[in-house]
Amino acid sequence: MKAGAIEVAVPLPLQKAFSYLLPAELAGEAHPGLRVRVPFGPRQLIGFILGPSDMDPAKLKPISALVDSDPLLRAADLQLAQRIAQRWFCGVGEVLTAMLPAGVKRGARGRLTTVVHPVLPAAADALADWPSKASTKQRELLRSVLETPAGIPRQTLERNHQVSGSPLETLRKKGLVTFSREHRVEDVFAALEIECSQAPELTPQQRKATDAIAEALRERSARGFLLHGVTGSGKTEVYLDAIGRCLSEGRGAIVMVPEIALTPQTVERFESRFGTVAVLHSHLTDADRARQWRELREGRRRIAIGPRSAVFAPIRDLGLIVIDEEHENTFKQQNAPRYHAREVAQMRAELEGSVVILGSATPSLESWEAARRGDLTLISMRDRVGGGEMPPVSRIDMRSQRPTGPGGLFSPLLANLLRRNLERGEQSLLFLNRRGFRTALRCKDCGYIKRCRDCDVAMTWYRERDHLLCHHCGRSEPTPRQCSECRTGELIFRGVGTEFVESATRRLLPEARVRRIDSETTRGRGAHERLFTEIKRREVDIIIGTQMIAKGLDFPEITLIGVINADSSLGIPDFRAAERTFQLLTQVAGRAGRGARPGQVMVQTYTPEHYALETAARHDYEAFAEAELEYRRSAGYPPFGHLARAVLQGEDEAKVIAAAAKLRQELAPVALENGVGLLGPAPAPLSFIKRLHRHHLVMRCGRQEGLDRLLQRCADCFRSARGVQILVDVDPVAMM
Ligand code: ADP
Ligand code: ZN
Repeated sequence: MKAGAIEVAVPLPLQKAFSYLLPAELAGEAHPGLRVRVPFGPRQLIGFILGPSDMDPAKLKPISALVDSDPLLRAADLQLAQRIAQRWFCGVGEVLTAMLPAGVKRGARGRLTTVVHPVLPAAADALADWPSKASTKQRELLRSVLETPAGIPRQTLERNHQVSGSPLETLRKKGLVTFSREHRVEDVFAALEIECSQAPELTPQQRKATDAIAEALRERSARGFLLHGVTGSGKTEVYLDAIGRCLSEGRGAIVMVPEIALTPQTVERFESRFGTVAVLHSHLTDADRARQWRELREGRRRIAIGPRSAVFAPIRDLGLIVIDEEHENTFKQQNAPRYHAREVAQMRAELEGSVVILGSATPSLESWEAARRGDLTLISMRDRVGGGEMPPVSRIDMRSQRPTGPGGLFSPLLANLLRRNLERGEQSLLFLNRRGFRTALRCKDCGYIKRCRDCDVAMTWYRERDHLLCHHCGRSEPTPRQCSECRTGELIFRGVGTEFVESATRRLLPEARVRRIDSETTRGRGAHERLFTEIKRREVDIIIGTQMIAKGLDFPEITLIGVINADSSLGIPDFRAAERTFQLLTQVAGRAGRGARPGQVMVQTYTPEHYALETAARHDYEAFAEAELEYRRSAGYPPFGHLARAVLQGEDEAKVIAAAAKLRQELAPVALENGVGLLGPAPAPLSFIKRLHRHHLVMRCGRQEGLDRLLQRCADCFRSARGVQILVDVDPVAMM
């Protein structure tokens, strides 16, 4: 770059970049995308060079130093970051910082490990002439070493062959292998046995989908597809086909899945088709992620699979971005920068000429409306591969049932079906989206509900561990014996969670083998896998779980699914409550009848007439979407308008309230001028979390520009408030 004024984005929630002087002696090595250290008030910050600035260099402070020798980000990344910052009202520097894995920013190189290399040609000759009876361990080790000429970490080798020490040492003494010390990072999925799989013959509906996508790929146009396919319709096969086409043209692809679905089974489907895939799992070490990042950037790997942040994977010549289960909330980042990976994918695709496939059995209303408007091309796959029927879903009206069993949990109908299924030796699954034993504790005398000290949230009682847990901050307390308010009252338990369902089921059917699946029981290495193997081997009769089990699992033997309480998700004070409920029921129902025997789904509810339940029972997404869109349109909610939330939080509630009132005063005229609806301030639904009082203002507008003006005003006038923090979330996925 030329010496003079340059723009630098610093990692702060500020939309504008700052100008600095690039001195002549550093100019030769400076490029856009390069990180620099700059003075910022009394601090030094690490920012990114955006490009030249038209400020007067004489008035600027010089940058302190260049941080990298090569830019970590490309011009397209800088453009993307600017669009993201604008869309979600966050800092460009914040976005750029979020684009890079921590390990890359720190230059993590991995641990120094011992790597085993073959000595050629001696090793190959020795293997060919290996005496048939002699030391097979050594022979198998040598074979593996020869298969990886670039060297294989000793640990990996020894683990794969379940040997330690001596056979390898012997090979080294024989002069067949050498050891070196290198910076290597272990591939956590390397231990998986990978068998290459062939693509199956596609079904006609899959063929139709892949033809359309192939055409867009050929044109290298930034087209977006909405692949609406029922569970088991073979969407993943469509993704695989499209990825294959990308690779054969030397291009790369990103596959995004919700974090919870990023299991070894998912990864294996992609790896077994294409060999090595960069898996950007959040459990990786920084060094691991840094290595994956570098391999992608250098083009040594061309497919990245991961959760939301995979949208920033440095793929060369990006041909395709797939978002599976595109309706999932986890694609929206909950802290700054609060981007939505689905939209970022579309922005990136536009910049790089890539195709986007959004796949779901229950598309988000945003995507569905975009398809109706023609911004996305809709592809529907209505049938399951192999012709399996979607299971019939029945609603059980709890108003007309006399619940039986412990805790009045089961309608007689569900209890009887569970018993019958057990007698037939078939598996059942019970679903409730709440963990713990009891979801609240109330004083019999004064009515006080036991809340978390730091959050205004009822604490959940876990009987197994006999403690109370706050699901928001994770705080736990011993179970109190008496009310902490009136100090005399006896405590009674309210509301049920999966622990309770488990115990009630055991009491209802003592002979049944019952297993609970949730984050408690699957904690620890291999716990997940063990449970799943048990279920597959049919050592379990009744499975009980939260939404963790609703996703992506394939248990062909399950023939009965009971939803304990469908109303719990409908009651959430959020305009997306109906959408969530529909999605959840569809997902749960998708778990049944995947094998040879048909399945059925029983949904217990006090509001069977609700349109979300009624359409879910018919498996009629389109009817649901129509009803839901009508409601959203009349209320001005997304996808027909934009929404933003400003949450003000602080330890002193009076200050928070005052700051919120002042903010409203400042915003009101701007809102009026720009046609933005301004609601609040009001206590947020979660009004006290982690010792912070929270009040919010909600802004709603048909056009994003109107909202932007208001948010700008928000940012300008807010700085003054002391002890109060402001968080701005544009098009939030949760209003809590
Ligand atoms: P989805 O992603 O829509 O839930 P999957 O791609 O997982 O569906 O497909 C469901 C099952 O059908 C999988 O076991 C998959 O291997 C199988 N399958 C998909 N397409 C085909 C095909 N064309 N021929 C045979 N089996 C297929
Ligand atoms: Zn708490």
